[in-house]
Amino acid sequence: AGRAAVPAGHHVPADLPARIQHYIDGRLVDSADGDTFDVLDPVTNATYLRAAAGKRADVDAAVSAARRAFEEGPWPRMVARERSRVLHRIADLVESRDARLAELESFDSGLPITQALGQARRAAENFRFFADLVVAQADDTFKVPGRQLNYVNRKPIGVAGLITPWNTPFMLESWKLGPALATGNTVVLKPAEFTPLSASLWAGIFEEAGLPAGVFNLVNGLGEEAGDALVKHPDVPLISFTGESSTGQLIFGNAAPHLKGLSMELGGKSPAVVFADADLEAAIDATIFGVFSLNGERCTAGSRILVERPVYDEFVRRYAEQAARVVVGYPHDPRTEVGALVHPEHYDKVMRYVEIGKAEARLVAGGGRPDGFDTGNFVAPTVFADVPPSARIFQEEIFGPVVAITPFDTDAEALALANGTRYGLAAYVWTNDLVRAHTFSQAVEAGMVWLNSNNVRDLRTPFGGVKASGLGHEGGYRSIDFYTHQQAVHVTL
Ligand code: NAD
Repeated sequence: AGRAAVPAGHHVPADLPARIQHYIDGRLVDSADGDTFDVLDPVTNATYLRAAAGKRADVDAAVSAARRAFEEGPWPRMVARERSRVLHRIADLVESRDARLAELESFDSGLPITQALGQARRAAENFRFFADLVVAQADDTFKVPGRQLNYVNRKPIGVAGLITPWNTPFMLESWKLGPALATGNTVVLKPAEFTPLSASLWAGIFEEAGLPAGVFNLVNGLGEEAGDALVKHPDVPLISFTGESSTGQLIFGNAAPHLKGLSMELGGKSPAVVFADADLEAAIDATIFGVFSLNGERCTAGSRILVERPVYDEFVRRYAEQAARVVVGYPHDPRTEVGALVHPEHYDKVMRYVEIGKAEARLVAGGGRPDGFDTGNFVAPTVFADVPPSARIFQEEIFGPVVAITPFDTDAEALALANGTRYGLAAYVWTNDLVRAHTFSQAVEAGMVWLNSNNVRDLRTPFGGVKASGLGHEGGYRSIDFYTHQQAVHVTL
């Protein structure tokens, strides 16, 4: 293990594990071949633990445990209320451990502690929400009087493969685990290899909540090994994936021979469109938060800001000043607004884009390492203005604290710029003109639009992207639909 000095002010949690195992059929186990991979502290980039590197054999063991639990165990056969009780206990346990969860997540991912705490609470809420939803679920019944009764018999599908990214690991795992389990499936989770720490807490939480053994299984490992084996496993009929669009394309192809059900939450390059009639103060605050919160490692980041010409110069000046005041710091410090990026490979990628941006546009804030941080994956909040739509920093997802600002003159030009990338995840619109607000929101190619609004979620609404940003929608009953078969039963009267 590379040992680096721990800088003063960097908090290392007590009782960190030295190794992390898989969890298969209710037991913690190493990889069959004994292989491990290194997990790094993003502040020092020193290896602080080793995680079991799952291969096909480990995925096979996890899938057969999940399959047994599905075919023979009580979980798929429980009434919704019984499963719901277990899920509410899971939510209670997550809530009661939120401080520890946030401490571990912040250490492992480099996210600011206050934001990691918010994500831990959202994880609890995801379980609570789907626990309530399955109990309230009503299915369709249609009568043809005197002739026929037709009804929907909803049933769990089987072993769901869940593959998740590193940006808000625990919360995104819960977003899949909640509905997959609530509907009676059994699961194999493959968490992101950069950040396996918080996921190692699920096993204890689920055991304490009374989830039967074999229902939840976890295999750590690299995407191209453990993830790939899960995608190609013939006994896993469903894959729910969140990650990069290019990985999604690869998974789509690998799942094709088995005709698997796929749900894909992919990348984004979401526009925030600020019209001259907007509340500029509110728009600046929200667009600062929209790209610099979660270290800019947020799929729905408003990473392109389009500003109407009459307020453009003022917007750029005020935005750059405010970006320069965003507090970069150690992840555990409650004053920190931008922490350390997750991993040196990702840090190098973001820094490459910062250099590309310097050749493509006008740098008005940041542009490198922040003062006082000579090591670790720290990037100063970086703002580029006058970014042409052909620029790589306008077109490509950077997934860090880097934003591109571009002027526009007409509504039509704003729409063309907003829609002018391969992505279509989110859009943010700032205007006080009611007609323009709705006309623009409905025309923009984005799965989700926030109008004069911060990025707030209502779990009942659809979540998902169009174009290269995703396939299918989760959220509310859409998640229930993905994780269940809806069988039509026709009865002649
Ligand atoms: P990634 O695609 O590199 O990895 C995501 C997961 O897929 C990891 O667990 C990885 O091990 C696994 N994986 C990689 N290759 C695989 C393969 N060949 N087969 C099976 N699994 C494989 O993404 P990342 O870098 O971890 O995450 C960042 C990306 O996720 C960004 O593009 C971001 O926009 C996106 N994201 C999207 C949403 C959303 O809801 N739309 C949410 C969060 C993150």
